[in-house]
Amino acid sequence: MGAAPQVQPLEFYRPNYHVKTPAMRSPDYIQMSTAAAITLGLVPGKMHRTSCTNCLNLLVTYPEGCRANCAYCGLARHREEARDYADRNFIRVDWPTVRYDEVIARVKAGGDRGQFQRMCISMITHPNSNDDTFVLLGKWVRELPEIPVSILSNPTTLEKADLVRLKEMGAEIFTVALDAVTPEIFDRTRGSGVDSPHKWEKYWQAIEWAAEVFGPERFGAHLICVMGETEREILDVAQKIRDLGGHNHMFAFFPERGSLMEDWPACDRGQWRRVQLARFIIDYFGGRFEDMLFDDAGRVIDFGIPEDDLEALLDSGKPFRTSGCPGKDDTEVSA
Ligand code: SF4
Repeated sequence: MGAAPQVQPLEFYRPNYHVKTPAMRSPDYIQMSTAAAITLGLVPGKMHRTSCTNCLNLLVTYPEGCRANCAYCGLARHREEARDYADRNFIRVDWPTVRYDEVIARVKAGGDRGQFQRMCISMITHPNSNDDTFVLLGKWVRELPEIPVSILSNPTTLEKADLVRLKEMGAEIFTVALDAVTPEIFDRTRGSGVDSPHKWEKYWQAIEWAAEVFGPERFGAHLICVMGETEREILDVAQKIRDLGGHNHMFAFFPERGSLMEDWPACDRGQWRRVQLARFIIDYFGGRFEDMLFDDAGRVIDFGIPEDDLEALLDSGKPFRTSGCPGKDDTEVSA
């Protein structure tokens, strides 16, 4: 193992972290979430009610950007008007571009800034995304084997052998951002409806491969609430994922600035809370979609568990926390 690269002073990044040159591409560079960049001291800022994020979210990066065109995504191809790919927001926040060696050095330096319980590599739709993910994963497992890695995959470019390789290289959890929960909504928001390459069948194929290759509790699906589906439809899918052995990572739709859906309304709060609660019951409480009752508009009117249990769950607050891959202390709460 070579000497750890020197940790650069914060000032090195401040003037230009958001200006991306053609050489700033994976695997030498990655983008990271604003929360991770704050935690590592790469950008100034404070996080509400906490000093750090426990999950280091990394994103492969290329100046030419993602080649898909998902209607709700700030990284989509239709956003080529953005001055620079690195200027495009993703899930509402900026994603600074940083040298991967620098990230590893800062995490190794530890202290309050290095206490990550998980690292996640997010792939995008790009010809190099598979190969670079292998390189990033391999380096992480060699340098920081104590911090488990999740892969947020891009099924469009992956084959089953790639999942096997990721698992053999040390990836712990594999996730699929299905996002849209019916074939029609999927095609309209991520497929042929927006001149984007993704296919509903391939995404489900990847979920089934993940169940087989990674096994129960080691894979998951991202679902976005609401993109035109009913509560019944999204929870039906959540139950299917659970029955395969996976977990559901639920996200509330928010109209991303500059996306094709920027003028859509944000997810209705009542709908979001009901779906969060029902997904927690399905994922962690042994409840079932079939025991839930829905009204004519597909809204949950009965969660299918005893009233006392429902009250206890509500009091715990757990169903309403961010859902994702687990941290090290509580598998029901994401890192
Ligand atoms: S593949 Fe992912 S990063 Fe690319 S446009 Fe779709 S949601 Fe965004």
